[in-house]
Amino acid sequence: MTEETVSDTASDAVATGPLVSLKGVDKHYGALHVLQDINLEIARGEVVVLIGPSGSGKSTLCRTINRLETIDSGSIAIDGRPLPAEGKELARLRADVGMVFQSFNLFAHKTVLENVVLAQVKVRKVPRAQAEATARELLERVGVGAQADKYPAQLSGGQQQRVAIARALAMKPKVMLFDEPTSALDPEMVNEVLEVMRSLAAEGMTMVVVTHEMGFARSAANRVLFMADGRIVEENTPDAFFTAPRSDRAKDFLSKIL
Ligand code: ADP
Ligand code: MG
Repeated sequence: MTEETVSDTASDAVATGPLVSLKGVDKHYGALHVLQDINLEIARGEVVVLIGPSGSGKSTLCRTINRLETIDSGSIAIDGRPLPAEGKELARLRADVGMVFQSFNLFAHKTVLENVVLAQVKVRKVPRAQAEATARELLERVGVGAQADKYPAQLSGGQQQRVAIARALAMKPKVMLFDEPTSALDPEMVNEVLEVMRSLAAEGMTMVVVTHEMGFARSAANRVLFMADGRIVEENTPDAFFTAPRSDRAKDFLSKIL
């Protein structure tokens, strides 16, 4: 085997390894052990739904994946690269992780278009004309192309959340984290957001989704993680999780919501 072949094999190994990897991650808030020995690997194109009672640590786990929260011990890698605690390298790796929150967090004083343009220009250093073209294309894709020149307050909640998704996608992330993206929406707007997420999943986007939408979990997830008290208590296929959960905690949780 030539040296070249060896290094090709090595880089292939990185490209086909897990996209997100957490090893032995622990985090405390004072006396509260909010994440306890989290070990998790997410493959390219995988859709992982994270379910669990309120306060179990789902949001904290999402936020640690792009270091919006620091961790006490363990390691996190995105696409084979360890996430540093701080610095320029962190900003670059963080841009690989798109995040969509319950509250849409759009800039109220910027137009919809500008909301999707801004970070591309500032963080990714994309030329403005190109950033605008990308923004218009993404806004079309999530079905709000006609709203590009309006301000967020002029849009419905469902439209605003779709803009937030377009804004995250504009950074060309490797993985998208959704933390209860439909929880703040009026019921009639939930589906339009879930539809956008379904189409992203179908296109092969790697996604971690915290949601109470069990229909979405059943139909779109490759894997369900059930969290309780800062631990991943159960990992299962969606079918098995909803029909025959293994853990008592999951059985109890499902009996309350289904
Ligand atoms: P979930 O998203 O599953 O509802 P969270 O990750 O938001 O849970 O919270 C997990 C636990 O950590 C809760 O008990 C919450 O009160 C606590 N917590 C979350 N953020 C903080 C913080 N910044 N400081 C102290 N405690 C926090
Ligand atoms: Mg939460």
